[in-house]
Amino acid sequence: MSRSLFDLSGRTALITGSSRGIGLALAQGLAESGATVVVNSRQQAAVDAAVAQLQGMGLKAQGAAFDVADQAAVEAAFAAFDAQGLAIDIVVNNAGIQHREPLLDVSLEDWSRVINTNLTAAFVVGRTAARRMIERGTGGKIINIGSLTSEAARATVAPYTVAKGGIKMLSKAMAAEWAMHGIQANSIGPGYILTDMNEALVNNAAFDAWVKASNPTQRWGRPDELVGTAIYLASGASNYVNGQIIYVDGGWLAVL
Ligand code: NDP
Repeated sequence: MSRSLFDLSGRTALITGSSRGIGLALAQGLAESGATVVVNSRQQAAVDAAVAQLQGMGLKAQGAAFDVADQAAVEAAFAAFDAQGLAIDIVVNNAGIQHREPLLDVSLEDWSRVINTNLTAAFVVGRTAARRMIERGTGGKIINIGSLTSEAARATVAPYTVAKGGIKMLSKAMAAEWAMHGIQANSIGPGYILTDMNEALVNNAAFDAWVKASNPTQRWGRPDELVGTAIYLASGASNYVNGQIIYVDGGWLAVL
């Protein structure tokens, strides 16, 4: 009985930015729980490779390459889903980019690029999906990927910090407006996770030592360590959980 709470059979999940890293791990995890997953990134070849990898594991996966920061491209992708009869029940707004520079030097162009990709895209993709969930009357699940910077600021990542703080509030705003339609919107706040995004930091001995020293778990996290939380928030197990953020950080914020 309780195991079936986490069953995603018959569900379709769009995971943005899932050609690698955290998104790919979440796509695999949701698919292993029974969902059909739609893999996304800006690059068709990378999407095709991720889909082939998941299908090779016997999982149900298909691809949709588009830029989440391009509203017209998002609308076109959902129109294509409609034409295929593909109803998206679960959205994981995971696509994200980092930009490291002192706030005094950040150009308006870089500010906008980071805010558009990390925050505005989650609003656009989430709303585009929610309109269909509401029209179908099926409800659905929206998971917005935040960060430790949803809670705490760090130097040299200001636009990212502002975007991820916004992600936490976007989930609350979605919950406030869409709960009555059976939609739950929550955030996951990953800690320092070993992915391409952090390659330069992992290879920086001082930063690597700081990550380990500042975290009670004394190590970086892995993408697969976010999967259980995503399955929980995508499944019926969390049907009365709405507008929350769950930090998966090894305890980093607990000792901040
Ligand atoms: P990666 O850089 O490893 O992967 C990012 C993914 O997003 C890629 O698939 C990339 O593909 C895709 N992507 C980037 N921009 C766009 C876009 N405009 N449209 C569609 N897809 C896009 O990052 P992570 O896996 O590390 O990060 C995933 C999420 O987790 C991000 O939101 C990040 O902010 C967040 N996060 C990560 C942490 C970490 O320590 N790694 C910590 C906290 C949060 P492509 O470039 O080919 O389009």
